[in-house]
Amino acid sequence: MDLHEYQGKEILNSFGVRIQRGIVATTGEEAVEAAKKLTEETGTGWHVIKAQVHAGGRGKGGGVKLAKNLQEVEDIANQIIGMNLVTPQTSKEGKKVNQVLVTEDVYYPGDNEPEEYYMSVLLNRSTGKNMIMYSTEGGMDIETVADETPDLIFTEEIDPAVGLMPFQARKIAFNLGLSGAAFKDMTKFVQSLYKAFDKSDSSLFEINPVLKTSDDKIMAVDAKVSLDDSALFRHKDYAEMRDEREENPVEVEARKAGLNYVALDGNVGCMVNGAGLAMATMDLIKQAGGEPANFLDVGGTADAKRVEEAFRLILKDEKVEAILVNIFGGIVRCDRVAQGIVDAYKNMGDEINVPIIVRLQGTNADKAKELIDGASGLNVESAVQFKEAADKVHKVLS
Ligand code: GDP
Ligand code: MN
Repeated sequence: MDLHEYQGKEILNSFGVRIQRGIVATTGEEAVEAAKKLTEETGTGWHVIKAQVHAGGRGKGGGVKLAKNLQEVEDIANQIIGMNLVTPQTSKEGKKVNQVLVTEDVYYPGDNEPEEYYMSVLLNRSTGKNMIMYSTEGGMDIETVADETPDLIFTEEIDPAVGLMPFQARKIAFNLGLSGAAFKDMTKFVQSLYKAFDKSDSSLFEINPVLKTSDDKIMAVDAKVSLDDSALFRHKDYAEMRDEREENPVEVEARKAGLNYVALDGNVGCMVNGAGLAMATMDLIKQAGGEPANFLDVGGTADAKRVEEAFRLILKDEKVEAILVNIFGGIVRCDRVAQGIVDAYKNMGDEINVPIIVRLQGTNADKAKELIDGASGLNVESAVQFKEAADKVHKVLS
């Protein structure tokens, strides 16, 4: 589950990470009130108005702007709230902005120039360890840094059983070229950031930029946070941070139905039980010259009701030209799934307007095939072998 910047910053703050402070507003008037309050609390003269959407690159798209007085706070907030923000990370249509974060300006002049760094904490799946990735090249696209100057990206691996060692935090501060108060503050920043990542059961914390202010304070100016959905049950307060307006509507519906669905760009809908088989099925579709339209794991209890629900979800995607059902009957019996498909056809009628290729293997597969082949008026082809299913998908697409 992805969070907004302001929610990510709340979590960081609760673990003692210094953040650029801000208050959320949904209207120009609220933005002015927020700005006044921030001036009282922080002494800031200028403010930054930041669009809150689940996408990075907001600055480039005009979603992050500096306001030098209260009139500008109001005008900029009014302009950003309600706009469709297009950034390098959104679709062409962009994302509607429902709220802005009014923040203190932390790029104030002083003894030194402010400096921007990049830092993220994530799981390195190939080593099974957590990893802090960091760079002196903050504020810009990390993908660009990785392409053009990969030697400027450092990584530090952390054994989750041991946790982050103090020497590792010092090494990071050193590699970022810091000294004196900034060095000390960075080691503290890194340690609290890692703690926030660890204790919140997150899969990603990306802070870009981490700022060294002109008076040598280290703080998070931005926060991109993804929480691990599977751990949300033990973080009820974080679970409430979900903003469904930012999510794919079909995925929202699928979650409510208890189905594991991820929307993709292709033309072949998939209904599969088990995540491993679902991935193998997606590979199969590619081999057959198609592109998967979704990942959908209907789970171990693929009964008639779930099968019908799954069809409805898949068919909401207009790009779908065919559906491949690939179910292994272990706990669930194939004939029951087949009955589910026949029933879904009965109930949904014309709504199912694309060909369906069904492969049911395992318990009672023969009966299932008989059921499918025997039912009249269905645009369904059954297959026994994996390869046969792929060929049939290929045939209906060409
Ligand atoms: P992103 O574009 O979605 O990554 O949004 P960020 O939160 O990273 O902000 C984009 C850019 O706005 C930053 O890289 C900074 O250059 C700039 N910015 C953010 N906060 C301030 C601030 O307090 N003062 C000034 N002058 N610029 C800021
Ligand atoms: Mn950023």
